[in-house]
Amino acid sequence: IITAQNIIKKFGVGDEEQVVLRDISLTIQAGEFVAIMGPSGSGKSTLMHALSGMDKVTEGQVTFDGKVLALLKENELADLRRNKMGFIFQQPTLLKNINVLDNIILPAMRDKRKHRSTIIKKAQELMERTGISGLEKRDITQMSGGQLQRAGICRALLSNPKVIFGDEPTGALNSKSAKEIMNIITQINQNGTTVMLVTHDAQVAAKTERILFMRDGQIATEMTLPRYNGQDLHERIDKVTAIMK
Ligand code: ATP
Ligand code: MG
Repeated sequence: IITAQNIIKKFGVGDEEQVVLRDISLTIQAGEFVAIMGPSGSGKSTLMHALSGMDKVTEGQVTFDGKVLALLKENELADLRRNKMGFIFQQPTLLKNINVLDNIILPAMRDKRKHRSTIIKKAQELMERTGISGLEKRDITQMSGGQLQRAGICRALLSNPKVIFGDEPTGALNSKSAKEIMNIITQINQNGTTVMLVTHDAQVAAKTERILFMRDGQIATEMTLPRYNGQDLHERIDKVTAIMK
C-alpha cells in the first residue's frame, strides 16, 4: 500500500544542509503492522512524514495506494490524506473550546458529501469501541491523557482510513494507559487497517509484526515477528531489546 524508492530528504541549504533520510527504499503491504524504532534524531518522524505525504522528499519517490505522491495536485494530496490516512500523535491536538464529540467529528464534517447524523453515528460507535462512550459532551480539559488519546483515535478512524500513522502514540501515557491504547491499535490492525507506529518502547514494538530500526537516516536493521496473538510477549520484547542494542 506504500512504497518508497530511494528516498532522500535534506533540510537546509549550503553549509546548513543536513541529509536526514539517506536512500531509503521500502514496501509496506496492506494490512501490515509496522514499528519504526531508532535513536532520537535518526529520522523516524521524517520518514513517516515522507510516507504520509506531509512533507516532500528531496529525491526518490513515494507511492501510496498506487499513487505517486509527488504527482498529485495539492487538493488531491489533501483528499488522499484526509480519506485514506489517519494520524495519531503523542498529544492529540484537540480544541479546548468544543466538546469531545465535536472534536472527533470536526475533520469529517469538512466532507460535504457526508451527513452529520451518519458521522455522529459512526463517531459514537468508535467511542464505544475505544471505551469512551458517554463522554460525548465532556470538556476537553476534563479528560485524562488516556481518554484524550482514545478521542484522538476515534477522530483518526472516522474516515475509515487504509493506513494509520502513529508518532509515539503511547509516549505521553502511563504504562497502564499505554497498554490499553496499544490493545486498541492492535485491534484496529486486526480488523484490516495497515498501521505504522514510531516508538521508543520495546513493549509497543513487540506487538507489531515488522520493526524497522533506523540509524543516521537509514534503515539499519529490520526484524519480522509472527503476528501477535497474545502469547510470548516477554520473548518478543527480549528479541526487540536485543536488536535495539
Ligand atoms: P525523535 O525520536 O527525537 O522524535 P526522530 O528520529 O523522529 O527523533 P526526526 O524528527 O525525523 O528524528 O529528525 C531527524 C533530523 O532531522 C534531526 O536532526 C532534526 O533536527 C532534523 N529535522 C527534522 N525536521 C526538520 C525540519 N523541519 N527542518 C530542519 N531540520 C529538521
Ligand atoms: Mg520523532
